[in-house]
Amino acid sequence: MNRPAKSVRESAPVALNELTDLRGVGPSLAEKLSRLNVYKPEDLLFVLPMRYEDRTRLVAVGSLVPGQRAVVEAEIELTEVVYRRRRSLLCRVSDGTGSLTLRFFYFSRSQQHGLARGKRLRCYGEVRKGSGGLEIIHPEYRVFRDNDPSPLDEHLTPIYPTTEGVQQGRLRNLINQVLDSEPGNISDWLPEALVSEHGLPPLWEAIRYLHRPPPDAELEELDAGRHPCQQRLAMEEILAHHLSLRKIRRRAETLRSESLQPTDDLCERFIASLGFRLTGDQQKALLTIRTDLAQTHPMMRLLQGDVGCGKTAVAAAAALNAVSAGSQVAIMAPTELLAEQHRDNFMRWFAPLDVPVCWLSGALKSRQRQQAYEAIATGKARIVVGTHALFQEGVEYENLGLVIVDEQHRFGVHQRLSLMEKGASGTHRPHQLVMTATPIPRTLAMTMYADLDVSVIREMPPGRQPVQTVALSENRRAEVVERVRTACNLGQRAYWVCPLIEESESLDYQDAESTHSMLTEALAGLSVGLIHGRMKNEEKEVVMKAFAAGDLQVLVATTVIEVGVDVPEATLMIVENAERMGLAQLHQLRGRVGRGQELSACVLLYRGPLSEHARQRLGVLRDTSDGFVVAQKDLELRGPGEVLGKRQTGLMQMRIADLIRDAGLLPQVQAMAEMLLDKHPGAARAIMQRWIGSASEYGNV
Ligand code: ADP
Ligand code: MG
Repeated sequence: MNRPAKSVRESAPVALNELTDLRGVGPSLAEKLSRLNVYKPEDLLFVLPMRYEDRTRLVAVGSLVPGQRAVVEAEIELTEVVYRRRRSLLCRVSDGTGSLTLRFFYFSRSQQHGLARGKRLRCYGEVRKGSGGLEIIHPEYRVFRDNDPSPLDEHLTPIYPTTEGVQQGRLRNLINQVLDSEPGNISDWLPEALVSEHGLPPLWEAIRYLHRPPPDAELEELDAGRHPCQQRLAMEEILAHHLSLRKIRRRAETLRSESLQPTDDLCERFIASLGFRLTGDQQKALLTIRTDLAQTHPMMRLLQGDVGCGKTAVAAAAALNAVSAGSQVAIMAPTELLAEQHRDNFMRWFAPLDVPVCWLSGALKSRQRQQAYEAIATGKARIVVGTHALFQEGVEYENLGLVIVDEQHRFGVHQRLSLMEKGASGTHRPHQLVMTATPIPRTLAMTMYADLDVSVIREMPPGRQPVQTVALSENRRAEVVERVRTACNLGQRAYWVCPLIEESESLDYQDAESTHSMLTEALAGLSVGLIHGRMKNEEKEVVMKAFAAGDLQVLVATTVIEVGVDVPEATLMIVENAERMGLAQLHQLRGRVGRGQELSACVLLYRGPLSEHARQRLGVLRDTSDGFVVAQKDLELRGPGEVLGKRQTGLMQMRIADLIRDAGLLPQVQAMAEMLLDKHPGAARAIMQRWIGSASEYGNV
């Protein structure tokens, strides 16, 4: 790629210092722009297109194909209002190579008159197959005044993410103003050697290219986010997030915590009472945690391990360790149901040790809540289990030394930090242990959890029966239904999952609904429940509880099944449309079964024909039950354009970077972050400000 030649201009560009220096921007628009993280003109350059449209060339009508987005110039042959099913305005146009229908469902009388026969127009839109040949529904169009067309665009048209009150055209106009002002002084903070080592262009060149790609730009590469200009910016964005986490970490190292050293053998007695031996990985994790807890600055540790590897037992031992050192412990789960599960486990484990467990949930009646508050404030409660309610206004701890958070990907960095602040007493902060069952490849973990130390449990407790995994074409569904019936008649239970397809809530719902009716009919005599994303949390919990209690034997679910809910009697996991789902998510779902004595199975139903790529992916699940291997393969086998659901992984939301796609940039980013923080703190601050804005104050809550 060529370096941009310094352009020489006749008149010096206007200096743009404030947003209001831009034409058309007043205080109210400036306020709206701040929602896009835009505070000064330069920030607009970092609002990057989500995709592009090619309006640089005309396409002959005769060569159009369905699915194509194209600019067409043609003459109007006929305009009429028709009443077939739905009132619509049809405008038939032709350019001598073929003809095309423009279809409008919403139109005004003047619009209808403007589209008069014999006039020429230029239009843009997505071509589809209509009842009478090719058509475009609601095209953008302009009728020529005196058969005198304006010139075509010189660049691909960027489509920006918009926000309420800042429309596409407005945003494009503002960005163009900034580009035209040639802010050549925009600072390139990345070391040049590093950027060129990756064959990436300088910042300004990348920015200009992405806002105004030339007509011959590789649209496919741009759409996939793999263009060097995008990679240049992605690198900086990942760096910005990584820096902010590093900063948090450095700050934590300067904070004080109580050194928690056990005064008796409570923890040992607990381990001896468990009835099983901790695995090597569990022991190692626990030892590390105990060492951390003895430090005088806060532990910030992530305990990572597949579902069922025994994280809870480790957390319980850590909690007793803190109790034995004279401290209170708070254990927080993201839902009532998960919190209850912990409460029950801990009560069962701790009762023989005479360690009371206090329960605090949002659902408590006010008298019970007051009692809990009092026990927490006086220190009578040593271990408190609950949901977010643990850190609500009004909860005062006597001496909180350790906070344990389960399923941490539901909680963002912000929440994690604010927990620490809420648990603060004077200058002291509680130690933090967060647990997650989402396996993440190492380089990724080091980037997205840069504020945390990571312990991994890979070893499963001995004697676990692996879940038998099979992939079946969906036309064998009837056999699967029979298998469910057999299992349920033996007292077992089954999940039947319909994935969320196309991110459409309503489709999602219908799919699960119809599966639910199908199964209710096919499995007469069994109770089949339904749980989906449109239900309120309380409603979901009622259904989940009924399934856990055995009142429901089959649970049809969209992908909302609570991660971590333990139903040992569930032995079958059926997943519809498995070929469309991420491996990580399928693995999570599979982890819902295989928790009891009986042999369990996971049936991946797919809609054929299966592509080679999909075949390979499903094969990974058949071949391994190790979540870390699955995660790594997921990374390797991701197809072009596949987007990993953020919710699945808890990966942070970024504007241009995709941590999985751009994983190759991570090692460099880590090295760069360390260097910048040490040698160029000003540049580090500027990069965080540029990409994260006010949120970069993560480290200063
Ligand atoms: P996680 O929270 O990591 O998903 P749990 O802590 O809930 O896993 O453990 C799953 C099950 O395995 C629990 O019933 C737990 O008591 C049991 N378990 C934990 N550690 C061991 C071990 N070392 N040996 C045998 N069983 C274990
Ligand atoms: Mg768990």
